[in-house]
Amino acid sequence: MGFNEVFEQYSWDEVKQGIYAKTGADVEQALVKPVRDLEDFKALISPAAMPYLEQMAQLSQQLTQKRFGKTLQLYIPLYLSNECQNICTYCGFSLDNPIPRTTLTHEQILKEVEVIKGYGYDHVLLVTGEANKTVGVPYFKNVLQLIRPYFSHISMEVQPLDQHDYEELVPLGLNTVLVYQETYHQEDYKKHHPKGKKSNFQYRIETPDRLGQAGIHKIGLGVLIGLEDWRTDSFFTALHLSYLEKKYWQTKYSISFPRLRPFSGGLPPKVEMNDRELVQLICAYRIFNEEVELSMSTRESQTFRNNVVKLGITSISAGSKTDPGGYASQEKALEQFEISDERTPAEIIRMIRSQGYEAVWKDWDSVLS
Ligand code: SF4
Repeated sequence: MGFNEVFEQYSWDEVKQGIYAKTGADVEQALVKPVRDLEDFKALISPAAMPYLEQMAQLSQQLTQKRFGKTLQLYIPLYLSNECQNICTYCGFSLDNPIPRTTLTHEQILKEVEVIKGYGYDHVLLVTGEANKTVGVPYFKNVLQLIRPYFSHISMEVQPLDQHDYEELVPLGLNTVLVYQETYHQEDYKKHHPKGKKSNFQYRIETPDRLGQAGIHKIGLGVLIGLEDWRTDSFFTALHLSYLEKKYWQTKYSISFPRLRPFSGGLPPKVEMNDRELVQLICAYRIFNEEVELSMSTRESQTFRNNVVKLGITSISAGSKTDPGGYASQEKALEQFEISDERTPAEIIRMIRSQGYEAVWKDWDSVLS
């Protein structure tokens, strides 16, 4: 049984009603339990939990320090291509957006790597649009072979692939795959993905299963906050996580919570999530699951990132460019979305240290695998 069959047993509307019906008593109960279940998670993300935010933040900080110490992992995205065959209503790389398209050559990739290594990075996240013909498995194989000597951890955020593709990429150095469902609301998913392979909701929702079967080291989950009710979408993310952890127990997991950001010609969020609500969600994930890694990108503002470093986040990006070739070239191509925190990696490290935390470049060594 794959996750899709679990998912089909749930009704979006019933889950949503269940979350909004939670009371202060439910939240208090969730806060004192030694082990929390999905009903507790509903309480923690509900509007009823807002008065308990300070208590949630303290518990989240304590649980995070117990499991991860006072450390933050650093990673940086490397955009390889902005070619894309999909139409996604919220993305600057969408097929219907008339922008110059580019895919980096090996020479250009090595120039990007040189800049990134100069910052001190050892964990890179490879990002592309979804263009199977030009940026497909053969391209990924070549890139992994090219950059493997420079990084001890390589993550990917590209189109979902078949299990046998992942099985070929893992031995070449692929450690982690991020695959965000964007939204678990099936009808809205179709509206936001009207054309291209990404319009296949089932194929996407089953991708973490294929990754688990392929024996990947880590899987990253998440939704794009702003497309639908964030509380209901986050419940389904937690459900997905719980299912995967039980079935693929040797795999590690991370969660991201990207909020919809502006881009050239872009869609405004349907649902706004304010900063306090994002803090609530971060703390709720941590209290629900002490093991899961929580990741924050440069989509969020400088002030917000400074304030949440101690609350439950375990990895953070810095100095990111979201246009292919953006590190080595002075010419600015179109970005996938606007960066909000523009500080350099050195400035982020100073901020992390000033809060009594240690910035970690590397938590993984390929000789140990
Ligand atoms: S979100 Fe991904 S698949 Fe959709 S348009 Fe952007 S790059 Fe392409």
